[in-house]
Amino acid sequence: MKQFDPATELNKLEQFGEFGGVNPSITDSATYTFLGAEAMVDTFHGETEGCFLYSRHWNPSNKYLSDALAAMEGTESAWVTASGMAAITSAILQVCNTGDHIVSSVTTYGGTFAFLKYYLQKFNIDVSFIIPTDLDALKKAIRPNTKVIYTETVSNPLLQISDIPAMSKIAKEHGAKLIVDNTFSPMLVSPYKLGADIVVYSMTKFINGKNDCVAGAICGSEEYINSLIDLNTGTAMLLGPVLDPLRSSSILKNLYTLHIRMKQHSKNAQFLAEKFTKNKTKVIYPGLSVHPQHELITSLMNKEYGYGGMIAVDLETKEKAYSFMEKAEKIGVGYLAVSLGYFRTLFSNSGSSTSSEVPEEIQKEMGMSPGLVRFSVGLDNDIENTWELIKKCL
Ligand SMILES: *Cc1c(COP(=O)(O)O)cnc(C)c1O
Repeated sequence: MKQFDPATELNKLEQFGEFGGVNPSITDSATYTFLGAEAMVDTFHGETEGCFLYSRHWNPSNKYLSDALAAMEGTESAWVTASGMAAITSAILQVCNTGDHIVSSVTTYGGTFAFLKYYLQKFNIDVSFIIPTDLDALKKAIRPNTKVIYTETVSNPLLQISDIPAMSKIAKEHGAKLIVDNTFSPMLVSPYKLGADIVVYSMTKFINGKNDCVAGAICGSEEYINSLIDLNTGTAMLLGPVLDPLRSSSILKNLYTLHIRMKQHSKNAQFLAEKFTKNKTKVIYPGLSVHPQHELITSLMNKEYGYGGMIAVDLETKEKAYSFMEKAEKIGVGYLAVSLGYFRTLFSNSGSSTSSEVPEEIQKEMGMSPGLVRFSVGLDNDIENTWELIKKCL
């Protein structure tokens, strides 16, 4: 059997504009006309195919992007949101009710961690945190009311790899849904194909790749996506974090170059990770054979996309990290900035920025050094020159 390939699946889609434009026409209407009153009622009840009612529910531009994401992910359906956090929070709230329980990786994105640890207390939803690579801890943390197992394919910022097939098996045994944030590894890994129930993205990062907007996506079964946008009970429909259709149409165009970008991000990151290793700088990168889950990720990956664009370098102290980053920005390695998946290299000190929501003692517990510098390696054409610049800053 031919292996699933996200870019090939995406390329099979034929989406074109109503006037024959090679790009689908942009539709920016908030509401849609009906020629018959009955047709409107039927659309309200979800009984008409291809009819649009109101833009918070569906609109053509969001549908094009959602269809493309579903094709890439191998899911039946998808829905696009105004941010990655909107995707994550809607996806979770749709599955969980008051009094339910979640088991989550402790090394998630800072905003996700804060939502799980602090915000969900409002709804009396209890969350147990585990190290994502510790499957025994996961099994032990499960309770009769566990509804969600939550993890990131590649964790932030330590780049630990989740064993999605094993986690999916545990989730299924206990009737829980496995939700996977695949923001760091679009196309490299296809979580739904590996057994995840729901895949969430911050499209702000690699998928859009231009750092010109904030956006997110939820991919899953048709039944689940329909439940999210149910007029009476859908979290996405009722909380309303819909993506602007003008934005959708611009992200769609960027999605079609994602495979080429991911390959170049990976190639450059692999190069730098090997150079850091030779230089005896402590570095974490899943593409290095010394990475503890190197074999696992190799077995999960779609071929030819490499090991991703993220590397973490341990400079031991915050002072050393700050001084490195300031020099690196000055001589043109990239930008001292949070976020990732941009065409230029971005770097930040995780402990004091993107993981600052995570309390210091938990940062220590998860093995995060205060001098950790996370790199989102850019699309540099001359990566050897970039390494020469980095060396000057170390
Ligand atoms: C950035 C990020 C988010 C949040 O996405 P926004 O688009 O900023 O809301 C969630 N998860 C991961 C892994 C991220 O990197």
